[in-house]
Order: sequence, then C-alpha cells, then structure tokens
Amino acid sequence: MSFDQAEKLLSKDNLSHEYKFKWDSVKSELKNEFKSIIWNSWVGPLSFLNYCDSELTILTTSELIKNRIERQYYDQIFLQSKKYFADLNKIKFLVNENNEKNFSDKNNSQNHLVKKKKYDDYDVISFVSGVSKSLNKSYTFENFVVGESNDLAFYSAKKVVQKFSSNYNPLFLYGGVGLGKTHLLNSIAWEIQKDSKRKFIYMSAERFMYQFIKSIKFKETITFKEQFRSADVFMIDDLQFIGGKESTQQEFFHLFNDLIDMKKQIIITADKSPNDILDIDLKLKSRLSGGLVVDILPTDNLLRTKIIKKKLMEKNSFLESEIIKFLADKITNNVRELEGAINKIIAYSDLMKINLDLNKVQELLVDFLRTNIKVTSIQDIQFHVSKYFNINFSDLCSKSRSRFISRPRQIAMYLSKELTEFSYPDIGKLFGGKDHTTVIHAVNKIKNLYLIDKKIKKDIENLTLTLKS
Ligand code: ADP
Ligand code: MG
Repeated sequence: MSFDQAEKLLSKDNLSHEYKFKWDSVKSELKNEFKSIIWNSWVGPLSFLNYCDSELTILTTSELIKNRIERQYYDQIFLQSKKYFADLNKIKFLVNENNEKNFSDKNNSQNHLVKKKKYDDYDVISFVSGVSKSLNKSYTFENFVVGESNDLAFYSAKKVVQKFSSNYNPLFLYGGVGLGKTHLLNSIAWEIQKDSKRKFIYMSAERFMYQFIKSIKFKETITFKEQFRSADVFMIDDLQFIGGKESTQQEFFHLFNDLIDMKKQIIITADKSPNDILDIDLKLKSRLSGGLVVDILPTDNLLRTKIIKKKLMEKNSFLESEIIKFLADKITNNVRELEGAINKIIAYSDLMKINLDLNKVQELLVDFLRTNIKVTSIQDIQFHVSKYFNINFSDLCSKSRSRFISRPRQIAMYLSKELTEFSYPDIGKLFGGKDHTTVIHAVNKIKNLYLIDKKIKKDIENLTLTLKS
C-alpha cells in the first residue's frame, strides 16, 4: 500500500480521529512495558492506519520491523490494544512502502543481509506469555461475596486449588454475564501463583483461538502443544467463544484429553452449560461434563445486599440503609451493573460533598434502572417497531431483504436481545424461523451503528422508551 492510498483510507473513516486517539493511548501504555532499546527500534515507530470490522491496521516502517513485531511482540500489543478497542479480533501490520523503499534504496543489498540474519535469529515464540498481566488484582477469593447462588462455585474453586482430584477435573463453572466467573478464575490463578512450583496457564478462549491460529501461521503447532502441555493447571475463560470454530475446537479437544490423561487440572468457565453451548462437538461436550459442572445463578436480594455492603466497606464509603435496599431491589441484572451503580453514586456524593437522598439516587441511576426492567414479549417489540417504521408486522418475520424492511428487522432483533431474556436461537425462531447467526449479525450490526449513526441511536432510544413505559 502506498502512502497516498493509506491517507485516503484515513480520511474516509469518520471515526479515525477517535481511533487514532485510542491507539496513542495504547502506545503510551506500551511504552512503559518495553525496554527503551526495544521501544525505540521496534514498537515506537508503529503508527495507526485504520480500525474496521474488529481489525486494527498498523503501519510499520519496514518489512523487518513488521516480521519482528508479528513474531515477538504481537501478544503484548494485542493485549494492550484490546483494552481500548474492546471488540478487537486481530491486528494487521502493513509496511509503509514509501518508507521501506527509501530505506532499501539507501541500504540496497546490504539491507537484505541484515534482514535475513535478524529473521533467523528469533527467540522461541511464546503462545502462553503475558498471562499474569491480564489478571485483575482485586479478583481474589477474599473479595468474593458468597451467597446461595454462588456458594458451590466458590467452594469448588477453592477446593481445586488445594487438592487435585479427578472428581473435579475439569471444573466447569457457568453462568450469565457479570456474575463472577472471571473473578473466581482469577482468584484461583492468584492462589496458584503463591506456590511457585505449580505452573498455570490462564487465558480466554478467544485468545486461545488466536494463539492457535498464530501457531499455524508460523508453522509452530508442535511448540504450541508443548507449551500448553507443560502447565500443571490450565484455565480457560469464556469457552463459548470457540463454538463453531472447527479446527480450534479439535485442537482444544486434543489438548484437553492430553492434559486430563497427564492428570493436570483444567478449569473452564462459560456462559452456558456444556450441553447448551452452541456449535460444540458432541465428543467435546461429553468430556467437558466429565468432571464437576457448577452453575452460578443470578443473585438474590440477600447476596446483593451483602455485596453492596462489602463494596462500600472497600471504598470506605457510607450509604443510608434505605438506599442500600433500593439498590438491592432494583439493580438485579448482575453484579457488574450493581458495582457500576455504586461507583456512580459514590463518585457523585464525593464530588458534590453531599449526602444523597433516594430521589437523587433514582435520578442518577436512570440508565441502570432502565436496563434492569425487562419487557418480556418479543411480540410487543415487533408491534412497536413495525408501527414506528410504518411497515407491516408480518414484514418483520418475512424474508424480504429490502433495506426498508431489513433495517427495522435488525433493530427489532437487537431490542429483543437487549430487553428480553431470549437467546439468539429463540429470537431467530420468533422472527419467522431465522438462523441464530442472522440474529447475531443483526445485533452486532445495530450495536455498531448505534455508536456512529445518530438517527439509529435516536430510533433505538425512542423505541426503548416506548417499550419501557
Ligand atoms: P463474569 O465473568 O461472570 O461475566 P465477572 O467475574 O467479570 O463476571 O464479574 C463482574 C464484576 O462483578 C467484577 O467486578 C466482579 O468482581 C464482581 N463480582 C461478581 N460476583 C461477585 C461476588 N460474588 N462478590 C464480589 N464481587 C463480585
Ligand atoms: Mg468473564
């Protein structure tokens, strides 16, 4: 790609400024992570080109830098970037040809020699590095509040740390979003880290997939396997993400069997039980259920109250019991939202230096309260969406691909996912027997448009308001 082409790409993208800004933040974090010699030669010269479809495109100044970055520093860069580009899947590095050309013109054949030498000199590529950096310091057993809905998960997590038993292998923890799965997995990792003799690998399924693909790309699948097999404990978060990814699943399945045979401990989390994860091979399902499968249920009022009190204590803050009760009654979706709500009101009262009353709390939490009331009927959503866009109710369930119909249909699917408890397949069925992938596509599409398209944002807000009132 020439520099001109690159510039064109840049100006086309309205969001570019924002993305570029994010990339600058990624870089300033990376700067702290690398030694200055590495920073100056390899990472510092990277520049932002484009972000689109979950793919970040970064310009390098030479082929040499590109290769080095891809082989040795990709993971670290990816980890940091993911913090700012939440739905990031991949980083692509392109050589800025103008630069490369100047460089090789000046150095001509000698340059190739240098390139060749460095290229052969690589350290062993790591597929399991950067693990402890992704652990959250406050996700420990001490900070986990136990109640009826999560006690089995909590005690089995503690148990696997203490003692290996095939009855708990694998330990499979599952439950809805924001209910503490990652927190428990981190807690296990922290405990294991105290004992230096045991080696663990902790990673999200997404990352596992990425590492696997990387190993294929670099023809290093054997190293990949060996590195994973060398761990005593293997933890994998959000397993549902390997659903539908055939080759990654196969690889995971083999690795899983190897580790179990070698009597290594495996701990897995997912949003659903092994049987309910979509598009997972039957053999794998049955192996996943072979140890202990434990669910984390939605919180009850008592647990929410305990969690609120604990969080207040951690923050050295105080709230009237009336407000605590209000929060426990109203913010019921999950613990993450509950934490968000607490943070918001504490920040407000700290900044304004006032004691909050219930009215003020209600006002502050209007967004939280809105998402915590669930409308139950998809028909309701379809009815209001078709009325709003002035199309027929039946069109929403038809196969029509006309933009006039398909966009409102996508919006209705999106709202169904946001406002009801129905799963993707269920929603698909209720929209005239559509495949779940169609629903996932629609939901993601609208999520993205919501961020960049003012009209769609307004439509969704209007509709949400109508549906909630
Ligand atoms: P999940 O992985 O299930 O989506 P997380 O583990 O990320 O959820 O939890 C979301 C947030 O809620 C985290 O900040 C976590 O510390 C907090 N949290 C969840 N359950 C509890 C609990 N029982 N006690 C204390 N904090 C909790
Ligand atoms: Mg999680």
